[in-house]
Amino acid sequence: MQILLHERDLLARKATLRERFQRIFPGAPFIGADITSRSGGSAAIAVHQGRTQSDYTTWRVRHDQTGLAISYFEVWQYAKIGKGGGSLHGPCLVLKKAYLHLYRSEREETEDGGKLFFFHCDPLVDHRYQAGPHLHAECAGDPWSKKHIPLCDGFNEIVLKDIDSLDAAFDRIVDMIGAEFLSLTAGGA
Ligand SMILES: [Zn+2]
Repeated sequence: MQILLHERDLLARKATLRERFQRIFPGAPFIGADITSRSGGSAAIAVHQGRTQSDYTTWRVRHDQTGLAISYFEVWQYAKIGKGGGSLHGPCLVLKKAYLHLYRSEREETEDGGKLFFFHCDPLVDHRYQAGPHLHAECAGDPWSKKHIPLCDGFNEIVLKDIDSLDAAFDRIVDMIGAEFLSLTAGGA
């Protein structure tokens, strides 16, 4: 399914994403979001705590109290909008990926890279479990980490309707991570 964004709204996503993650990292030194790699007809936007590398997939936001870190990035492709573009005129982008990764900071230099759980969404992929928000249990290793565990199975039509709907779904995932993983007072099993 196609999730569209007008080019003029791309800059505003920086603030949207910064605010989303600031909510679960209270007191974090600085959380920013930047747009990068505008080449090849695509733009990526990713959150960071002061970007140090040009490769946005290496940008992290760290939670010192729990030793966890997250990365979040979106890849948008420039699109030609024909029929079905609705009220969108002018340069538009289509969401290719929205990826939220959870890591254990102290293991980032090890073979497994500290990968814990990856939350993905690939709206352009024609696959029931991969198109909508889904989970990869990266810490389970191959082949289990490749399995797509859908988080909204049966609701792709709603969740992937537009960027506001997907944002609502990801806001819930982010809030869950804040409550279950980053809260030192989270309950037991
Ligand atoms: Zn995936």
